[in-house]
Amino acid sequence: MLSILRSLVQEVNSARDLQEALDIIVSRVQKAMGTEVCSVYLLDPATNRYILMATEGLYPDAVGQVTLAYSEGLVGLVGSREEPINLEDAPSHPRYRYFPETGEERFRSFLGVPIIHHRRVLGVLVVQQRENTRTFDEGEEAFLVTVSAQLAGVIAHSEATGVISGLSLTGEEARDVSFNGVPGAPGVAIGQSVVVYPSADLDAVPEKAPEDVEQEVVLFQSAVKAVRDDIERVAERLASQLRPEELALFDVYLRMLGDDALPGEVTNKIREGIWAQGALKQVVQQYVRHFEMMDDHYLQERAVDIRDLGRRLLSHLQERGQEQLEYPERTVLVSEELTPAMLGEVPKGQLVGLVSVKGSSNSHVAILARAMGVPTVMGLVDIPVNQLDGKELVVDGFEGQIFASPSDDLRAFYQAICEEEDELIRGLEALRDQPCETIDHHRVSLLVNTGLMTDVVRSLSHGAEGIGLYRTEVPFMIKDRFPSEQEQREYYREQLEAFAPNPVTMRTLDIGGDKSLTYFPIQEENPFLGWRGIRVTLDHPEIFLVQVRAMLKASEGLNNLQIMLPMISNVSEVEESLHLIYRVYHEVREEGYDIHMPKVGVMVEVPAAVYQIRELAERVDFLSVGSNDLTQYLLAVDRNNPRVAQLYHSYHPAVLQALVRIAQDAHVVGKPVGICGELAGDPGGALLLMAMGYDSLSMNAASLPKVKSVIRSVSREWAMQLLEDVLLLDSPHVIKSCVDLALRNAGFGRYLRPGKSNSAAYAERAAS
Ligand code: PEP
Ligand code: MG
Repeated sequence: MLSILRSLVQEVNSARDLQEALDIIVSRVQKAMGTEVCSVYLLDPATNRYILMATEGLYPDAVGQVTLAYSEGLVGLVGSREEPINLEDAPSHPRYRYFPETGEERFRSFLGVPIIHHRRVLGVLVVQQRENTRTFDEGEEAFLVTVSAQLAGVIAHSEATGVISGLSLTGEEARDVSFNGVPGAPGVAIGQSVVVYPSADLDAVPEKAPEDVEQEVVLFQSAVKAVRDDIERVAERLASQLRPEELALFDVYLRMLGDDALPGEVTNKIREGIWAQGALKQVVQQYVRHFEMMDDHYLQERAVDIRDLGRRLLSHLQERGQEQLEYPERTVLVSEELTPAMLGEVPKGQLVGLVSVKGSSNSHVAILARAMGVPTVMGLVDIPVNQLDGKELVVDGFEGQIFASPSDDLRAFYQAICEEEDELIRGLEALRDQPCETIDHHRVSLLVNTGLMTDVVRSLSHGAEGIGLYRTEVPFMIKDRFPSEQEQREYYREQLEAFAPNPVTMRTLDIGGDKSLTYFPIQEENPFLGWRGIRVTLDHPEIFLVQVRAMLKASEGLNNLQIMLPMISNVSEVEESLHLIYRVYHEVREEGYDIHMPKVGVMVEVPAAVYQIRELAERVDFLSVGSNDLTQYLLAVDRNNPRVAQLYHSYHPAVLQALVRIAQDAHVVGKPVGICGELAGDPGGALLLMAMGYDSLSMNAASLPKVKSVIRSVSREWAMQLLEDVLLLDSPHVIKSCVDLALRNAGFGRYLRPGKSNSAAYAERAAS
């Protein structure tokens, strides 16, 4: 059973389009189950009707012609109940609906299972059988449910491919259909997409036509030659160490690279109009499928060799093709998984939007994007990334959705939102030098989170009073080795100088989890519960000591440095870190530097720290809550996983209760407490935190003017009442709506995109 399923999924995965995928499904399922009919009906979002999309056993002419309303017939019943329906005599069921054009009057038994993807019913998979033969048994029902669950993602993906090309399920023109992910960084961008993909990853190669066929052929031939040379060299080197039968593997490789084998087929495809990388991908995938389906275990294993060869050829092709990557004036960078390094590749001033399949709004790349003010959508799981290359895209970072090849009307609609947003930001510029103080004179410090030098420039122009979190891992991430002490010192000095005499809080290296350094990979089953933050640096004092030394030396003459320790879950980690910091401090002074001992603080990011606030606070100068991680750990929701993004909620009552407790306990010991998670940059979140008594709020520069204008317009008393009210509620969504309503009533509706969803507003406008 498993092997049938595996080969079915593989075949469907490599179908060229949705129709081919569905045809494969019905024919393979019909055969595997030995039924007379297998059909698939998909729910067309445009008409909300089920369409018979493919069948094996009903009259073929009925495909595309037979449609049912959302709750019509047995198909509608399966869809609306969201569970299988297994009937011995379907025509006698009150919901049976007969379509003469299908010829289905011959069939009596009926088994239908819904196709559901991320809670959305995509369609219904049906098998039918003639009278007096048999009903479907439990095993068959379970098989069909398994097939449907496995294929739902593939169908969603193929459906999306059609939509990107501007086609609906029925092949009609479908414009302005949105793809939904999660908001990564607010704002709207309209630009041209550039798909960046991890190198030497065949699956990620996009479909493209070659600019010059002959040039592509030459490029491919030279890649073949280079790989042949590599293999011959390796074989020669290993000749004395391997037995002849082991060395024969290299001959297999070289034979595969013979002119009439793989290279011949790839060249033919290039001549048919596919660029070399795409042609290679198609041929390798064909071979791999072929080998994987073989019953012989030895031959199945050969698929691995083909894939390896494919990767080698691709890597040579990419080496040569690399300089061809061009970034348009308004680049929207799209990738399976965006990395900070990819952002750095785009020439200055040309990056307007970001789209990532993996990750969620609290992934580090989203945080970077917010710091840079680049509208971003994350977690677009069903998007066929490869199809987006070169397309015009609208990125709606408020709602977490994108549109490919927008109509003129939709483009104009979003253009107007961009202009409105610019105007709003310009209007806030006047607040730059005003203090962040409520109308009843409660003062809060507004600080910024930084990582790159561009953040610093933006922060200064937005009137930040210092840096509440400098993520030192950012300069580490954009290098290909650990930066030296001198290099670190230069990075740190820039940040310290830009804000002096205001405080600059530098967090010691916080890697692990989703923040990896290419040159220091950490492979773990469970990285967020593993070797992260302070755990890594205490195990590697040589990294920690160099970093602290660089920070202290950089602070000479400025004395505005504060050091902050990430991922603290034990008092002993604070004590060990303090010991190392003191040691470096004395050494650096002995070297003749005129420095002051910096203030040292602890980040509160894990539940253990919440219950040890007093013990921690007694040992350090300040506390700062990392609400991004604290939310993740309190709610047991991976901050990067788009599947559970709906459960990640910083307005969750448990998170709010923890935040209240932290502020109270820190103040009991007389230590200042701030917050540097994303909640601080959310106008509603900032109000609640100010009411809780947080002394400072540190956020991305783009959010700062909005937060300041909200805080300056209310009284602390009003905010405390709001806090008291929401602490009585038990649903994060109701709490959020309550805070939004309060903001709206206070005149800040404009800060609340999406107040009314942009796409809903557009649909309303288009209909009128
Ligand atoms: C946090 O966890 O809230 C935080 C500020 O740190 P980071 O997002 O860098 O993990
Ligand atoms: Mg953190």
